[in-house]
Amino acid sequence: MSCRADFILTKIIATLGPASADPAMIVRLIGEGARIFRINFSHGEFEDFKALLDATRQASKMADTPVAVLGDLCGPKIRVGDVVDEGVPVEPGQCIEFQRTPITGGAIGAVNADGNPLLSCNSPDVLDDVSVGDRLLIDDGSIRALVTEKDAPDADRILRCQISVGGTIHDSKGINLPDSDLSVESLTDYDRECLKWATEHDLDYIALSFVRSAADVQVLRAETQRIDTTDAPIPIVAKIEKPQAVTDIHAIVEASDAIMVARGDLGVEMDLAGVPAIQKRIVKLTHEVGKPVIVATQMLQSMIESATPTRAEVSDVAGAIYDGAGAVMLSGETAVGKHPTKAVNMMARTARAVQQHLLSGEDTSNSGWEDQPPTWPSSGRRVAALAYGVRRMAKDFKARFIVVWSQTGNGARFLSQSRANVPILAASSDLQAVQRMNLLFAVQPIHLAIPPNIETFAQLIDPILQRDEWGFRGEPYILVAGEPIGTPGSTNSVSLRYVGDATNH
Ligand code: PGA
Ligand code: MN
Repeated sequence: MSCRADFILTKIIATLGPASADPAMIVRLIGEGARIFRINFSHGEFEDFKALLDATRQASKMADTPVAVLGDLCGPKIRVGDVVDEGVPVEPGQCIEFQRTPITGGAIGAVNADGNPLLSCNSPDVLDDVSVGDRLLIDDGSIRALVTEKDAPDADRILRCQISVGGTIHDSKGINLPDSDLSVESLTDYDRECLKWATEHDLDYIALSFVRSAADVQVLRAETQRIDTTDAPIPIVAKIEKPQAVTDIHAIVEASDAIMVARGDLGVEMDLAGVPAIQKRIVKLTHEVGKPVIVATQMLQSMIESATPTRAEVSDVAGAIYDGAGAVMLSGETAVGKHPTKAVNMMARTARAVQQHLLSGEDTSNSGWEDQPPTWPSSGRRVAALAYGVRRMAKDFKARFIVVWSQTGNGARFLSQSRANVPILAASSDLQAVQRMNLLFAVQPIHLAIPPNIETFAQLIDPILQRDEWGFRGEPYILVAGEPIGTPGSTNSVSLRYVGDATNH
């Protein structure tokens, strides 16, 4: 858990999958800098999820490094029903039809009387919400069609669409309907099952796909509180990937615990050219209210196949960090790619290079990093107020790092978001809080038993600071805590210290 030059302030999320299912591989990903692992409920069965979770918890123990596991709910993702194994090729100008009755059993290659392909989808009711003139996009938008005819709701063949960009339609590929106002529920029955599983298995975060409004987040919030009656039900990450969500972004940020700019579907649902600007806006306004924000998808996409990324991809990772994103995510690169460790390594080295540049103070025009501490609306919390001061003190005192006792993780969050831009070692006796703190920019959580008082905490932490090279003897740091230690809300003390002092006498 070394801290000096190679400490990565930015958090790296790696998506789990067949390429990263082995504990030894996950240990390597942790070694390269990944601290959060995503289980995507869109792919696989509960036994697969259990295997990935067990492998991650085991790897975390092997690496002696706490990590967080994020479960990603599919939300109302619409998918093509069964089609023949080799897929259905479609060409520009050709028509396809959607029928209400599910097509199952791969029996298919079904065609209508005119010889046009006949398809179904996983939630037939959405077909009623689509209007003539709406776009219907298949497989991440690679196949594009326009709805040209719609039959009465009681008909089985309900939509006819004309293909504008062709390709081959395969089983269960995603369908995006960016122009349609979908009345589908934000949480499907499957999402509810996944949420229950996530809670029962103590996952650290739950993400919700295709959020359209703050109300969608509130539905999930109510459900988490219903099934998890502990003090700290699983925190919610809202994935922004629909135009409606961009419109309602302030209320969604308010309702969520963290935000993910999910550029995969966002880039299909909206004009791709506008996505970078949307990313900048969302990163800024989420940071401004003191919540973590993740930039996700296709960050190092070419590394699924190739051992080195494109220059543009590296610039994209850097750009997200310059924008002020506290976390960046890998998807296929670590889930199904050929070079998972190289991808995390590339991301980590890029993050380090950006932080070195920003911390050099050379570029004062930037950025999401400097001179915009959050404005968490009159929180009235001591630790929020302290965080502002600590940021200032860290600069004047040239503190190398901050140590905080953060029992619930809240204090660490305020310090993280205040962007003192030095590493923060955050201790708690609550293992789940420790795991969850991994999403916080600049924070390295540590699991410790509650010390009797602040001085004992300082004495306990001092040898760890030296052992793990957080600082060398005599280097300045700031310690934030409160007594009684471990009592949430007690944080009320800041002291300026030097490494080695607590154990000198
Ligand atoms: P997904 O979400 O990988 O679950 O689709 C991320 C995205 O759409 O960017
Ligand atoms: Mn998505």
